[in-house]
Amino acid sequence: MGAAAGHLAWIKIASVRRVQHSCPGYRVWAAAARWKNAEMTRVVIIGGGPGGYEAALVGSQLGGEVTLIENDGVGGSAVLTDCVPSKTLIATAEVMTDVRQSADLGLRFGLQDQADVNGGVRVDLAAVNRRVVDLAKRQSCDITERVQRENVNLVVGKARLDGPDLVIAETADGELSFPADMILVATGAHPRELPEAKPDGERILTWTQLYGLTALPQRLIVVGSGVTGAEFASAYDALGCDVVLISSRDRVLPGEDAEAAQVLEDVFTRRGMTVLPRSRALSVKRDGDQVIVTLTDGRTMTGSHCLLAVGSLPSTAGIGLEEAGVILNQDGFIEVDRVSRTSARGVYAAGDCTGVLMLASVAAMQGRIAMWHTLGEHVSPLDLKTVSSTVFTAPEIATVGVSQKQVESGEVPARVMTLPLRGNARAKMQGSRDGFVKLICRNVTGIVIGGVVVAPRASELIFPVAIAVAQRLTVDQVSESFTVYPSMTGSIAEAARRLHGTGMIS
Ligand SMILES: Cc1cc2nc3c(=O)[nH]c(=O)nc-3n(C[C@H](O)[C@H](O)[C@H](O)COP(=O)(O)OP(=O)(O)OC[C@H]3O[C@@H](n4cnc5c(N)ncnc54)[C@H](O)[C@@H]3O)c2cc1C
Repeated sequence: MGAAAGHLAWIKIASVRRVQHSCPGYRVWAAAARWKNAEMTRVVIIGGGPGGYEAALVGSQLGGEVTLIENDGVGGSAVLTDCVPSKTLIATAEVMTDVRQSADLGLRFGLQDQADVNGGVRVDLAAVNRRVVDLAKRQSCDITERVQRENVNLVVGKARLDGPDLVIAETADGELSFPADMILVATGAHPRELPEAKPDGERILTWTQLYGLTALPQRLIVVGSGVTGAEFASAYDALGCDVVLISSRDRVLPGEDAEAAQVLEDVFTRRGMTVLPRSRALSVKRDGDQVIVTLTDGRTMTGSHCLLAVGSLPSTAGIGLEEAGVILNQDGFIEVDRVSRTSARGVYAAGDCTGVLMLASVAAMQGRIAMWHTLGEHVSPLDLKTVSSTVFTAPEIATVGVSQKQVESGEVPARVMTLPLRGNARAKMQGSRDGFVKLICRNVTGIVIGGVVVAPRASELIFPVAIAVAQRLTVDQVSESFTVYPSMTGSIAEAARRLHGTGMIS
């Protein structure tokens, strides 16, 4: 049993059977570990997305006996259908955006027709999507290998709770029971559908079905202008597709910084995208090779394909949660506190199934916090004020901390400084016209409490602002740090410099 067993008793708990798994060479067991230390905490995790697998790694590191039960593939929707595939597609779209803008930088491709905005570059969507799907599978396999290396018992199956301390998994080998000292529910979410708009997987699609396309849609109607809708509209527009974006609100990205959303909407329309504000889709019907979207005001739009991006629903139904004493809210999300505890003792939840903030990074942190809390480590409750996030459009929109809306409403007394990128030397060199840097700091102390970057690669540029927010740096501390000349980050330091002193600036 090895030296670590020491004075503790080791017992045999289950026989082991090898089961089929999509990652070649990896051994996935149908039952949990053959041997366990009788005094180890038995942790059973349902769902292998970022909320589940990151928790599994921490749980194992802290000496728990961890079983991870996953239905589809480790990495979860984040890796297999949502985050990773969309950002891989967007990586290709970014190159096309650069190609489109390259004429301004003096580049001419081949026998370029003046009217060809794509510089003679053709998109082979079948190849693009093959790469997307392969990369996602490889990423899932890499994570599978990692969790197995860390001694997590991986079980392929659909799990449900049988009370607050027992999990049942339906596997290819039948039902298996896993008694637990602690259960973490990390079952994620799935695309919402409209009653009159049923995806057919061919022309009426959810975001999980897009990667089956082998040719660019002639006209893609995107229903929903939140983050997912805006990202796919931006990507397909860059790939050369005629895109119509239907937004039920006054502007795209209603949940984001208003000025950032305005920049994006201006860029979208300048590029030729049709943006329909205050338009709500009532139904989407297939008519041969076409889709017809009917709006609530009676107008109709015709396209070759329709993407439904109308939000997500939690995957919490029918898995024994309420029977185990776990309270769900009216939308079916699991109610948790800031250390990921549910209302049932010993049952924790993390990620999209809690609806706290639907980001992979937040799911992972909620999962880790649950493990730290259960396994006796020091733990700080989840703090959403320091979470940075990005809308991966062109340009990208990255935000952290307090918003300008909170400042303007009087909720948070603070000062705001916005610098357009137009004045930044590096932006000029790169031909980036659209975007800005915004910093928000406390009135008297000058402590940075929020920021927005709208720029190419804003997802990377937000990090210094995120550090400033997390570490409570003042604008003077930020502006006294050297930036490279020329650089986009120079605008962050300049915004901080202009916020020096006290008083109200806007
Ligand atoms: C198109 C799109 C793009 C996104 N891009 C980003 C991004 O760029 N950055 C970012 O931070 N976030 C992004 N997100 C959000 C991110 O994908 C989610 O926040 C993240 O997936 C949440 O992780 P999770 O672990 O809660 O759930 P998931 O990743 O959904 O994983 C849950 C897993 O649980 C499994 N499961 C469910 N029920 C059971 C059961 N009963 N038994 C066994 N297994 C079960 C499922 O099979 C699934 O694998 C994006 C979302 C979408 C829709």
